[in-house]
Amino acid sequence: MRTPLIAGNWKMNGSAALINDFGSAFADVSLPAALDVVLIPPFPYLDAARQAFRNTPLTLGAQTLNPVESGAHTGEVSGRMLKEFEVSYVLVGHSERRELYRESDEQVFDRLLAALDNGLTPILCVGESLAERDAEKTMDVVLRQVGYAMTRLAPEQRQAVVIAYEPVWAIGTGRTATPEQAQDVMAGIRAYLAEFSTAFAEQMRLLYGGSMNAKNAAELLAQPDIDGGLVGGASLKTDDFYAICQSA
Ligand code: PEP
Repeated sequence: MRTPLIAGNWKMNGSAALINDFGSAFADVSLPAALDVVLIPPFPYLDAARQAFRNTPLTLGAQTLNPVESGAHTGEVSGRMLKEFEVSYVLVGHSERRELYRESDEQVFDRLLAALDNGLTPILCVGESLAERDAEKTMDVVLRQVGYAMTRLAPEQRQAVVIAYEPVWAIGTGRTATPEQAQDVMAGIRAYLAEFSTAFAEQMRLLYGGSMNAKNAAELLAQPDIDGGLVGGASLKTDDFYAICQSA
């Protein structure tokens, strides 16, 4: 059985006050027993979040990391530093990083390796643009992104990765993939993973991301190959994020 995972990516949003709101709102909640919930605020809020989330089911994630452990990399943060702040998960290959900061599959892989080396669970984000979907290239793009990482990892490293399928055209646009569209791609990812081993494919957690909200989460999460969600905008509101967690 795969434990569902709901991760909230705040991107470059939020505030210290919002961290405290989440700490209070999630202090006495009853969530499904087998559910991992991760909040991913910007770096400066990680320490406040670590303290505010102590009596909550919320665990911590980071939005990126530098592949190098330390040194002359102004503005960057390493996996070792994240680990010091009790961060458990880290996003790698988010489409905004691939697009705005030109991160290639190779650079995404270096980050993923650094995450694993530091005992962090990487959430590898993959997904096609609208032009690629219209050109019927969705599976080519997604499996290239997944495959670049998976073929370079040892079996025990592969098992430690979470994959998030996020169609780029659905991120921050209010346009969600239909449950069937998401399921189709995610079944394709799992079929690809089964080429390594069926047992491995069966235990891998696959998340859907792209305008998931309190209204559409239940239907998406009911799909057989969707094990959770990577939530952007709706993770900035305590009620909405809680409702999504309840749907898992
Ligand atoms: C994301 O940033 O990963 C995301 C899915 O954003 P949104 O939910 O706002 O589309």
